[in-house]
Order: sequence, then C-alpha cells, then structure tokens
Amino acid sequence: ALPPEVFRLAVEQAAVAISITDTRARIVYANPCFEQVTGYTAEEIIGRNQSILSYKVTPRLVYESLWAQLARKEPWNGLLVNRRQDGSRYLADLTITPVMNDAGEVTHFLGLHRDVTEVH
Ligand code: FAD
Repeated sequence: ALPPEVFRLAVEQAAVAISITDTRARIVYANPCFEQVTGYTAEEIIGRNQSILSYKVTPRLVYESLWAQLARKEPWNGLLVNRRQDGSRYLADLTITPVMNDAGEVTHFLGLHRDVTEVH
C-alpha cells in the first residue's frame, strides 16, 4: 500500500493550489502552491474563510449555485474572480469536492485551483 507520507508529500509538492476547509469554508490546510498563487502564507490564512479570496465582483448567484451543489454532496467547478494578498486580481479555475467520512457525512471540503488569468 502507498505510505501516508507519500500522500502528504504529493499534496505539498503539487503544482496546483490545494486547500482543505471545514464545512463552513474555514481553511484548515493550504499547500505551498496555494501560498504562491494567493500571496498568503499558510500561517496567516489558516482559520480564515475562503471568502477572504473573493474580489467581490463574482455574482452572488454563482456562490449560491456553488453552495447548492456542495449541499447535494457533489463537486463544483467554475471560475471565480479572486483577490491576492497584495490586492491584485486573478481569475481562479476552482474545483471544490466534498470530503465524506465512512458514514457519508461531509466533514471537509477540498479546494483545487489554478490562476487562469492568462488563458481567458
Ligand atoms: P457568503 O456569506 O459566503 O455567502 C454567499 C452565498 O453562499 C450566500 O447565498 C450564502 O447563503 C451561501 N453560503 C455561504 N456559505 C454557505 C454554507 N456553508 N452553506 C450553504 N450556503 C452557504 N470563494 C471565492 O471567492 N474564491 C475562492 O477561491 C473560494 N474557494 C473556496 C474553496 C472551498 C474549498 C470552499 C468550500 C469555498 C470557497 N469559496 C471561494 C467560497 C467562499 O467560502 C464564499 O462562499 C464566497 O467567497 C462568498 O463569500 P461572501 O462572504 O461574499 O458570501
């Protein structure tokens, strides 16, 4: 079997911004690529809500459909206008996956995002 340490190293070294939140979107983990993309250190972002990344221009309807999808225990993918720690704006291609325990209860969310400003 794959040692848990390999999972940890793979997540730490992934070339995609990875975060894990509680069920209210409060960040409990962020990988080094997340720090690079957002400009926040893990230390300053842990405990904050993911909404700290919102540039406040994405229509409310987008967030509502995101949360409705997650409430159905389904993954959501979409584009959000994000704000880095320095105030600059970027377009995030984000996938959020509910993390369920053996009883099928959602305990966390996994967020994966890339800066796609240049692509669009
Ligand atoms: P909010 O107060 O969060 O609310 C916006 C709408 O969503 C409202 O209609 C509200 O009712 C609904 N809503 C909010 N929280 C919940 C909930 N727990 N259950 C049901 N409905 C809810 N946002 C970004 O802008 N950029 C990101 O990169 C980003 N990454 C995320 C990654 C993960 C893993 C998760 C779980 C969420 C992420 N979000 C991200 C969404 C973020 O948590 C906020 O919901 C969003 O930024 C809107 O924030 P707000 O303060 O403007 O509005």
